[in-house]
Amino acid sequence: MLARLFRLHGLLVASHPWEVIVGTIALTVCLVSMNNLATSSQMCSWNECPKVEEKIHSSDIIILTITRCMAIVYIYFQFKNLRQLGSKYILGIAGLFTVFSSFVFSTVVIHFFGKELTGLNEALPFFLLLIDLSKACALAKFALSSNSQEEVRENISQGMAILGPTFTLDALVECLVIGIGTMSGVPQLEIMCCFGCMSVLANYFVFMTFFPACVSLVLELSRESREGRPIWQLSHFARVLAEEEDNKPNPVTQRVKIIMSLSLALVHAHTRLAAEHPGQNSSLDGPIAKRLDSGDTMWPPKLSSMDLEQVITLGLALLLAVKYVFFEQAETESSLSLMSSPTQKPRVAEDCCRRDFPAPKLQITMNGTIATNPASPAVSDSQLSPEADTVFSEQEVTLPAAASVDNGPCVSCFGESLALTPCVPQSSSNSEARTLEECMDILSDPQRGPRYLSDKEVMNLVTSRNILNYKLEAVLETPERGVAIRREMLSPKLPVRSALASLPFKDYDYSKVMGTCCENVIGYMPVPVGVAGPLLLDEKQFYIPMATTEGCLVASTNRGCRALSLSGGCHSSILADGMTRGPVVRLPSACRAAEVKVWLETSDGFSRIKEAFDQTSRFARLEKLLVGLAGRNLYIRFQSQTGDAMGMNMLSKGTEQALQRLRQQYPDVEVLSVSGNYCTDKKSAAINWILGRGKSAVCEATVPANVVREVLKSSTASLVELNINKNLVGSAMAGSIGGFNAHAANIVAAIYIACGQDPAQTVGSSNCITQMEPAGPEREDLYISCTMPSIELGTVGGGTNLAPQQACLQMLGVQGSSASQPGENARQLARVVCATVLAGELSLMSALAAGHLVKSHMAHNRSRTTLSETPSSKSEKAA
Ligand code: NAP
Repeated sequence: MLARLFRLHGLLVASHPWEVIVGTIALTVCLVSMNNLATSSQMCSWNECPKVEEKIHSSDIIILTITRCMAIVYIYFQFKNLRQLGSKYILGIAGLFTVFSSFVFSTVVIHFFGKELTGLNEALPFFLLLIDLSKACALAKFALSSNSQEEVRENISQGMAILGPTFTLDALVECLVIGIGTMSGVPQLEIMCCFGCMSVLANYFVFMTFFPACVSLVLELSRESREGRPIWQLSHFARVLAEEEDNKPNPVTQRVKIIMSLSLALVHAHTRLAAEHPGQNSSLDGPIAKRLDSGDTMWPPKLSSMDLEQVITLGLALLLAVKYVFFEQAETESSLSLMSSPTQKPRVAEDCCRRDFPAPKLQITMNGTIATNPASPAVSDSQLSPEADTVFSEQEVTLPAAASVDNGPCVSCFGESLALTPCVPQSSSNSEARTLEECMDILSDPQRGPRYLSDKEVMNLVTSRNILNYKLEAVLETPERGVAIRREMLSPKLPVRSALASLPFKDYDYSKVMGTCCENVIGYMPVPVGVAGPLLLDEKQFYIPMATTEGCLVASTNRGCRALSLSGGCHSSILADGMTRGPVVRLPSACRAAEVKVWLETSDGFSRIKEAFDQTSRFARLEKLLVGLAGRNLYIRFQSQTGDAMGMNMLSKGTEQALQRLRQQYPDVEVLSVSGNYCTDKKSAAINWILGRGKSAVCEATVPANVVREVLKSSTASLVELNINKNLVGSAMAGSIGGFNAHAANIVAAIYIACGQDPAQTVGSSNCITQMEPAGPEREDLYISCTMPSIELGTVGGGTNLAPQQACLQMLGVQGSSASQPGENARQLARVVCATVLAGELSLMSALAAGHLVKSHMAHNRSRTTLSETPSSKSEKAA
């Protein structure tokens, strides 16, 4: 609830940066003008106030000087930390905004309340210590992890949701603690504590409004200045965000704050004592400068203590500023480019995780030490690129098994998956690995979750079976990280460790794969997709996507399509549409099985079974039962239309339900398997060839003699003769079932892979008889037909849900459910398959008849690339 409120607030501020900035400035101006009124009427301003003559000890001055120096060093380290995060400028500016605006607001607020400020100039450095940039920095990181302005807003609101409650609590606690001082009865301490409270509140106010608005605006402007491309390019911050200190109190900061509080208490205790015993101390009257001039013996006589104090403070500030501006950059570069000592490994690891620029080329030897390629150029912020975290190539890195790597940070950066895995945050301690229990706590904590675990920690959880390997995608924050970690765990077990390097896995929508298409995913297989066509089918033109690695196939099919187009196209018809599932059930006896068979074949039996079957789907409707008997086994072939789906799952579901109904009628029916191979799915079977399965289609065309001659480079007579002797007699001689064709499977497989069909169903789907005969008055034209009784395909479900496959279905205008009538898209796809098979048959048969087959395959299959890799060619090259 609270987080939601903060999220909404963050979204509002980030979406309206101008309004927030202008509003805040306007409020400031109002406060200042009210302050003027107040000061004119009732109080003095900072500089106009009469100075209170105080007696301050020289020890006070030492303490003040030390504290001021501490404050400056503290600020310096805060800025240094900002740089460690990878962005020198944006985060620096963000920090400056916070510091500056906190001061402005604190001053204005205090003036507004009309408090006495005399002497606070000496205490101001203490208040610097109240400013913790880590929160502002964490929020900036959220914003910087975005790739678009929309994401900036979204991430700022998310950051606000996470950081807002903590920061609010911190501010409250700080105020309460410092507020105790306002009741001390010591006037100066009271003022200082009041100022401290106001400063904390102002800091909080700025963090909640002005700062996120500025960050959002700066990012928006910088994006525009680069023609829409974000200049910050810190996308991996999204993962770095998960890192340790962001949402936890920084221990160093806490410590410094305690020291600050003690110092304050010391100064004021001392001052009060001095006021009570004026004669006992060698303190001086008046302002510090005057007092020191009057002769404190602790300081050199010629240099006033005030001068010395200012010189020390100013000198330190200048020194650190020069170091930060001019030398930090050089240090950063050299630490990146000249990393050679094994002792520096953790630093490199951290850098490669946390920085946003190309890291040096690292070489990790078998004993786990790291060496950097000295030739690799130093990099700077100006070289930042979004691809930076992929600059490592797997070839550049060798590494022992993941388990043998030490617990240094971001192990994945060193693993062979360097090029394969995203860089993820490491545990809060760079040197100490978290225990399994700690990791499990983080994993199950909804506020943190898996992104707070490093790859190595996740792998440990998998090894210990706290995370099941097959559930990696579901458990981790993104499926891609799950895939990357599975690859990383698998690689060391492979004969060639770098085997997976060329198997892509990034930028793939695994959400469509999970639970539907594939398990234990390690990547995806890109297959070239060619296009054949236009194919003129039923007066419409189609461009056929074909995914294949067989050279010649697309070219040949394309030639067939051209011949058909020149012949007025081809025509098709759907003969039947019905997917099948054939379970096997057993009865106590053959006679009892026969009794059940008879009941199933009655209209009463059929309608009862159908009723149960039809309940399971909006599209599947039982049409036929074919019952075969073997001894006491019954084989029941359920047949149903399945709309636009291929329908195997639908049929299985319906069959299961129907068998339960059968068991109600005949309790002694024992279901041996929901599939009894009587379907028959993915196996060559005469039943599909004879009775059909899926879509039964036929396609025909008449090719004029001149096209046969000029395009196909053949003659009708030779084609007809070849078809008889090869496709009919030859296949009969081979005892083929449904294989009375030249290469129907080639076309079916290529279209199936492109269009997301189940590739194994090319077995039955390729059943085809190709027939040719002379036609026309001269008997020189060629009549050709292809009959395919069992085309098993669909346009919804399975692989057709994947985007690239859907693209290919869209090429044919058949993607998804048919708008006109369920099943029309799938049937249209079956027609296209049958017609493309016909085109392929025409072309291949012509090539065979003309004796061109071997020649064209040599030209298309054995490219120069292939040939150049043969041993003989290699040795030729070597010679
Ligand atoms: P499916 O994705 O399991 O089922 C199709 C789903 O789409 C159903 O939920 C159906 O609704 C819905 N649907 C929406 N519009 C539709 C429309 N116009 N026409 C038809 N259905 C529509 O797909 P399937 O074809 O049944 O099964 C294909 C998957 O089964 C593939 O992944 C394949 O690899 C796999 N397969 C399974 C087996 C097996 O033995 N189980 C065998 C081979 C292959 P309803 O819920 O109302 O029906």
